[in-house]
Amino acid sequence: MPSENQCPVCGMAVDPQSAPSATYDDQTYHFCSEGCRDQFVNDPASFVGNTGS
Ligand SMILES: [Zn+2]
Repeated sequence: MPSENQCPVCGMAVDPQSAPSATYDDQTYHFCSEGCRDQFVNDPASFVGNTGS
């Protein structure tokens, strides 16, 4: 299970207190930068490993 304190785009550690965040599928994700947040928002499914049927 990925850490809540990890950028789902690049895997860097993040500080949830100050990092940019986005909500997808009722989960809040934190990002190391606005750039990673933008990538995630453009295509969240490719970063959350949603392979369930
Ligand atoms: Zn990142």
